[in-house]
Amino acid sequence: MEVYKFGGASVQNAENIRQLANIVKQGPRPLIVVVSAMGKTTNKLERIANAYYLHNRDYKNDVLELKKYHFSVAQELFEPQDKVFTKLENLFGQLNEQLQRQPSMNYDYDYDRIVHFGELLSTTIISCYLNRTGIKNLWIDARELIKTDSDFRRAKVMWAEAQKRIKERLTFTDTDIYITQGFIGSNINGHPVTLGREGSDFSAAILAWATDAQKVTVWKDVEGIYSADPKLWQEAQRFDQLSYDEAIELAFYGAKVIHPKTLKPLKEKSIPLYVRSFINLRAKGTVITDFDRDLSPMMPVIIVKDNQTLISIKRQDSGFISEQDMELVFSIINHYKLNNNVMQRSALSFSFCIDFDRVHLAFFIEELRRHFSVKYNTGLRLITIRHYDAETIKKMTAGREIFLHQQSRTNVYLVVR
Ligand code: ADP
Ligand code: ASP
Ligand code: MG
Repeated sequence: MEVYKFGGASVQNAENIRQLANIVKQGPRPLIVVVSAMGKTTNKLERIANAYYLHNRDYKNDVLELKKYHFSVAQELFEPQDKVFTKLENLFGQLNEQLQRQPSMNYDYDYDRIVHFGELLSTTIISCYLNRTGIKNLWIDARELIKTDSDFRRAKVMWAEAQKRIKERLTFTDTDIYITQGFIGSNINGHPVTLGREGSDFSAAILAWATDAQKVTVWKDVEGIYSADPKLWQEAQRFDQLSYDEAIELAFYGAKVIHPKTLKPLKEKSIPLYVRSFINLRAKGTVITDFDRDLSPMMPVIIVKDNQTLISIKRQDSGFISEQDMELVFSIINHYKLNNNVMQRSALSFSFCIDFDRVHLAFFIEELRRHFSVKYNTGLRLITIRHYDAETIKKMTAGREIFLHQQSRTNVYLVVR
């Protein structure tokens, strides 16, 4: 049994969905196929959720555009009478029903109720399309399988419960291909949840872990994992193999190619992860395994994370920053579910970088200001260089203003503009 995962770019138009069908057709059996929302759908749903929560009716146009996008892709793939159109109408009906309710007091709860529709829409189109083209499969609702706690927008998996449900439902007695959604699940009361942005890779790993799959393949718009984003750096080199630990480090610092939570369940069961190109099927890709000869010779690996906000706090009485002060800062970060990326402490100040969050940043800063003096800059870039050398640091900082520079034995972190 194997697991395939297709991300947003691999299903963003009719041509790519035909290519997905081609890959699945040639693929192994039995097979679980995990699919993300099409193209930039999740970003759009996020905008809709934000506007809805703030009682701003501007989202109506976004909903129409989203509907037009899904229907136009479906029109290229199906005959006009196909049942898929009724299914899509139903899903948009459910989304609109949600949008007609009063927002609750819980942004994260409302966010998940809206944002999870992206994966329901994409998998509906793809499952129907595969069935129409003779690739028989069953559509499975991931909300029935991936059970989580109620930490909406970054729900934590209840592993034993999820495994039980996955094993009970995915028996392969009714089909040899299941199509399901990445990124989504539900809590014990059946309310939809999401697992954190980019979480579909993680869903594939959860399903592989629960079913003891032989391997997982994530099909991407790049030919594997490189020493830097190959879309930004032509000279980036592809890795044939990486260890789980090295891959976890790259993902943790923000190499968007793999979601950071993906590797742990796979490592636990020694399930290899293949990262392959969905365009060039002959390309070798990268395999992540128990490999123990990483990066020899240690090649510098560059990881860039944009849209960073660097925040520096000082005590209002100009005293030393204490452990209690830091504890307070972390509890506030946690309360707003912000991602904290790098931090630095001096006697009188504490600085840290977070991913920009349009909805929560102002509230977060306001709360910090109740306790500390706060300065912050937005629109920054966090550069992590693993196995750094002087030349790479120089190249990455040339002509840039450096806000923070931190160095350990293996990594250098630079926050720049
Ligand atoms: P998916 O939607 O399939 O999950 P993503 O867009 O999330 O795909 O991830 C693939 C993208 O990750 C690539 O298009 C590439 O621009 C980017 N990327 C960043 N760092 C790396 C890296 N080190 N190696 C390969 N791709 C990278
Ligand atoms: N669709 C979700 C997102 O864009 C999950 C994913 O693509 O992995 O974040
Ligand atoms: Mg991704």
